[in-house]
Amino acid sequence: MRLVTFRDDKGTRVGALDEAGRVLDLVAADPALPRDMLGLIGSGALGAAQAAEAAAPVVEGATILAPIPRPTKNIFCVGKNYHEHAKEFASSGFDATAKEVVPEAPVVFSKPPTSVIGPHDEIPSFLDTSNSTDYEGEIAVVIGKGGRGISEADAYAHIFGYTIVNDVTARTLQHKHRQWILGKGIDGFCPMGPAIVTADAAGTPPNLAISTWVNGELRQRASIDDLIFGIPTLIAAISAAITLEPGDIIATGTPAGVGIGFTPPRFLKPGDKVRIEVPGIGVLENKVA
Ligand code: MG
Repeated sequence: MRLVTFRDDKGTRVGALDEAGRVLDLVAADPALPRDMLGLIGSGALGAAQAAEAAAPVVEGATILAPIPRPTKNIFCVGKNYHEHAKEFASSGFDATAKEVVPEAPVVFSKPPTSVIGPHDEIPSFLDTSNSTDYEGEIAVVIGKGGRGISEADAYAHIFGYTIVNDVTARTLQHKHRQWILGKGIDGFCPMGPAIVTADAAGTPPNLAISTWVNGELRQRASIDDLIFGIPTLIAAISAAITLEPGDIIATGTPAGVGIGFTPPRFLKPGDKVRIEVPGIGVLENKVA
């Protein structure tokens, strides 16, 4: 099942995407369902949502928002988690802190909830005064069952599903401030969506591959199997002492092919279109403003 958050003239609520990409109104089929995604995840109402799908009417004129428009806490992100990307970042000159190309432990940082935008929103590159805005297509994990001290063996049982995140980055700020939050936490620098594919539909481990295009040119392509630190390792590392809660998001890292991987760097400019596709989830495409 693919779940979305959408808005129409009756307000904002959760829905499902059918095979054709149409939005289905789950709440119309089952008024007892939570209207927001965090409520649905936290209440364990996935079974009811799945039961409602067959009877849910198609919504005309729906606008799809980020599946979790306002996460409860910062989005966890992982740096340098694909080998080829770790190499391109190390050789780009924009990595201010690393002593080694491939990290010994997951490099975890975060993006604030205010950075989240939806699939139809524009990336506000004008907020990056350093004019070095770059894209990072990523597969993200959505936590279903919370916990602290989650073991690698138990990790998949805590996953609600998967979505797509663009970890948009102001490279000069990332380098200048050494800690990455100012370069990566800018308002609107976390496009997310279009849907959450539920864990049962994605498989365990999930069978997911990601591709990124800029203005139709393929820039990134990788499988989730290529991660240096896999999903169970990330969940165990983050939850070792931080409580993960239902609806928390972990962006797993970006493959090679970002703008700073080119010489000279190919930064985004207004009017560009970044398209990220993960079959089984959908397409996240945002125009740069
Ligand atoms: Mg990233």
